[in-house]
Amino acid sequence: MIGLQMAARNVEADPAADFDAVIIGAGVSGLYQLYRLRQLGLRVRVFETGSGVGGTWYWNRYPGARFDSESWTYGYSFSQELLDEWDWEEHFAGQPETERYLNYVADKFDLRRDIQFNSRVTAAHYREDMRSWDVILEDGRRYSTGLLITAVGVLSAATMPRIPGVETFQGQSCHTHYWPNERVRFEGKRVAVIGTGATGVQTITEVAKTVGHLTVFQRTPQWCAPLHNAKIGQEEMRRIRANYPEIFERCQQTYGCFIHATDPRATHEVTGEEREAFWEKLYNEPGFGIWMGNFRDILVDREANKLISDFVARKIRQRVKDPAIAEKLIPKNHGFGTRRVPLESGYFEVYNQSNVKLIDITETPIERITPTGIKTSAAEYEFDIIIYATGFDAITGAFDRIDIRGVDGVSLKEKWKDGPQTFLGILVDGFPNMLMVMGPHAGLGNFPRAAEYSADWVTALIRFARDRGVTRIEATAAGAAAWTDHVIAASEGLLFTEVDSWMTGINRNVEGKQVRRIMRYSGGHPKFRERCEAAADGYRELSLA
Ligand SMILES: Cc1cc2nc3c(=O)[nH]c(=O)nc-3n(C[C@H](O)[C@H](O)[C@H](O)COP(=O)(O)OP(=O)(O)OC[C@H]3O[C@@H](n4cnc5c(N)ncnc54)[C@H](O)[C@@H]3O)c2cc1C
Repeated sequence: MIGLQMAARNVEADPAADFDAVIIGAGVSGLYQLYRLRQLGLRVRVFETGSGVGGTWYWNRYPGARFDSESWTYGYSFSQELLDEWDWEEHFAGQPETERYLNYVADKFDLRRDIQFNSRVTAAHYREDMRSWDVILEDGRRYSTGLLITAVGVLSAATMPRIPGVETFQGQSCHTHYWPNERVRFEGKRVAVIGTGATGVQTITEVAKTVGHLTVFQRTPQWCAPLHNAKIGQEEMRRIRANYPEIFERCQQTYGCFIHATDPRATHEVTGEEREAFWEKLYNEPGFGIWMGNFRDILVDREANKLISDFVARKIRQRVKDPAIAEKLIPKNHGFGTRRVPLESGYFEVYNQSNVKLIDITETPIERITPTGIKTSAAEYEFDIIIYATGFDAITGAFDRIDIRGVDGVSLKEKWKDGPQTFLGILVDGFPNMLMVMGPHAGLGNFPRAAEYSADWVTALIRFARDRGVTRIEATAAGAAAWTDHVIAASEGLLFTEVDSWMTGINRNVEGKQVRRIMRYSGGHPKFRERCEAAADGYRELSLA
């Protein structure tokens, strides 16, 4: 019996040995995985770097941090009681509300007693003799576990820019991911924001409301679209609650587990007027509709992509008063939707404020951070606060920061140096008894919808193994190669593969992340589930012993 047997044997061999399963990470994925493994009666320990639950929603406290997912599609679906009890306050909840929600979940299901906070895992080494993993924390404490389950997040390894002098700045420096707990005040302050991705867009919009003077350093402008957030009244919440079964059913059917389903029509199948009216409607509706609910060909057909890009560019020109600034804010090196679309609430209007300046660092690169501010090739600026909205070493970054070693001491980072190789984004050959919830090459999308599925799949596999006395679970090399090939094939023809972004594994601030790779499965979640269901039929593609 996996886990339980192993724990018993480990206890004999080593009195300090420990768990049936260790989960790394106490975000949306880790919390749910813990809940499910407890149901199997396993002894589980979650190790979490932070001092609280929530992952993304624990760390990212920057001003303006909020969902692009509709809140009521993002909450867990596994507990009717939870659905009945939790009222969302906004259609797109801000970070504080989501953090409150995840704390509520942790309390309701009494999850905290198995979570060890302030515990960063620095290494995990497989031991073939024990069929177990040694897990080592930053402070040197060691544990052993039959199963190692990673729930480390796809956007959790924050990166600072590689600009000389960062440590010399004498004002306040904040990375959006490591935002301080106490409120940062911007009134009367000279503030710089470096980075204009989804996080930068949210931060800039919020900071601009109270700042003395704001300078935005932009390398790549984004195709932002309006969020159209609103409060949820009691009556509306009642209606949403009554509709939960249909909402989750719809999320199951769509490509990215959002409520927005791709329009079956192609861009050129309708007249110019119909197209314009459709896009106008999408632009004026809440959420990702303009990205996920658009014509079926906008992300594959260059001409279709150009037309929707032109439409959004017109919107930017209408909203930004100074035509020269509008042009700087319109992306020129990628089409609409080929990078993650940031949703915004008044972002473009920020640049109409007289106390906001936009600096294009492709024209005047930042040369260094100085003790008093930022020096570009053209000028030197003084600031009280520098905000780094410079994002993440996405998808594989959190794995790379742990020294994970499988059979014969092979390093996972080394194995993935030319791109991830997994079986269903869940298992890796050569790394037995390691299971990834939302690993690279898994079906991504509206996160908890995909994470619940992933954790359920992992749980079912563990139950299967336990019921058959299996103590070693591993992907085969052939299975992993076939899945990796399928993932690569599924992205062929998609325009996003031609663009540098975290979705193609590019991060200029991280060594070895300068070559585009396929980092996520692009076949859509329904197809992902089909493959997972097929693989779960007897788990014949796995090596079980
Ligand atoms: C600003 C922002 C906005 C987002 N908005 C949306 C949205 O609207 N919709 C959506 O679907 N998704 C969104 N996402 C993606 C978001 O990451 C997921 O929705 C979800 O929260 C991920 O959950 P997770 O548990 O898999 O990972 P995370 O929430 O990232 O949690 C992983 C946890 O693992 C911990 N960890 C990592 N490595 C170690 C280690 N070595 N030792 C110990 N602990 C470790 C981390 O501290 C972290 O707490 C957003 C992400 C960001 C950054």
